[in-house]
Amino acid sequence: MERVSVIVPCYNEEKNVEIFYKAITEVFAGTDYELELVFVNDGSSDGTREALKRVSANEDCLIKVLNFSRNFGKESAMYAGFNNVTGEYTAVIDADMQQDPKLLLTMLDAFKEEPDIDAVAFYQEARKENAVIRFFKNRFYRMINSMSDVEFVSGASDFRMFRRNVVESILKLSEKTRFSKGIFSWVGYNTRYLPYTANERMYGESKWSFVKLVKYALSGMVSFSTAPLNIATFMGILASFASIAYLLVVIIQKLFFGIAVEGYATIVVLILFLGGVQLLCLGIIGEYLARVFIEAKNRPVYLVRDEYLNGKCEKDDRKA
Ligand code: UDP
Ligand code: MG
Repeated sequence: MERVSVIVPCYNEEKNVEIFYKAITEVFAGTDYELELVFVNDGSSDGTREALKRVSANEDCLIKVLNFSRNFGKESAMYAGFNNVTGEYTAVIDADMQQDPKLLLTMLDAFKEEPDIDAVAFYQEARKENAVIRFFKNRFYRMINSMSDVEFVSGASDFRMFRRNVVESILKLSEKTRFSKGIFSWVGYNTRYLPYTANERMYGESKWSFVKLVKYALSGMVSFSTAPLNIATFMGILASFASIAYLLVVIIQKLFFGIAVEGYATIVVLILFLGGVQLLCLGIIGEYLARVFIEAKNRPVYLVRDEYLNGKCEKDDRKA
């Protein structure tokens, strides 16, 4: 029997986890696959911890629950999941039922139909988002694809399934600032993209505000492209040439026509323009420097407070 591991990052999903568990076990009941669930409780502040403890007491399948010491973000939760899976296949799915667990079988079928593929990813064809967010998301994909060597498929989510070899490769990318969309395509392999439509969230609310999305997008660009640094260089070269040209103009004026005290506007414009360009370039360099700083500190991506396996406490850092 082949084992299918499913990573479920949960942050304040107390009402969803039980529903999710029922749905996914129903899907896998009667199939030839052995299910392994890895719930990662990403420092929830509601009753997710207790709800997961109840769920993990079930014996229908392997159920691992990792409780983080605080909220580290979905990226860290997925990484923890990858570190803990044992299956031939590994999938990532949200706990909020926006992604139908039945689609996991669709992904498994895809692997069976085409033995050559290593990963299956779902992308959203029609996104039920407001026009502004959709506009910015499209811009983002255009920009990052033109800037980066790795390919970013528009609308592709973290709802994916991988063969073991891909999971091993993902684990080799141990960077601290993780941007999964980039990591998944950076590792390469043969990925099949399938369309799907996300459902409405069951309970609770999305953790993604517009500001968070913008930050995430910028962080992805910095992680997977050095093009902004080239832009800084390019602006520097442009400003240098422009200043040489203007320098010549001023010298010629001085030599042949003399300069009456004027040029207030010119000076103000120049100061503001060059000041702006300099600050922008410093900012860009600063973004990359911050990354070097964070990576150099080499802090762990996440900390696990305690761990359950089918209701039994496997690890508790207070009893270590
Ligand atoms: N999530 C998480 N840590 C976070 C934020 C979210 O583990 O800091 C989980 C969340 O519980 C859910 C998944 O990531 O299972 C997707 O989050 P959400 O539904 O808020 O995102 P959306 O579907 O709106 O993109
Ligand atoms: Mg969601």
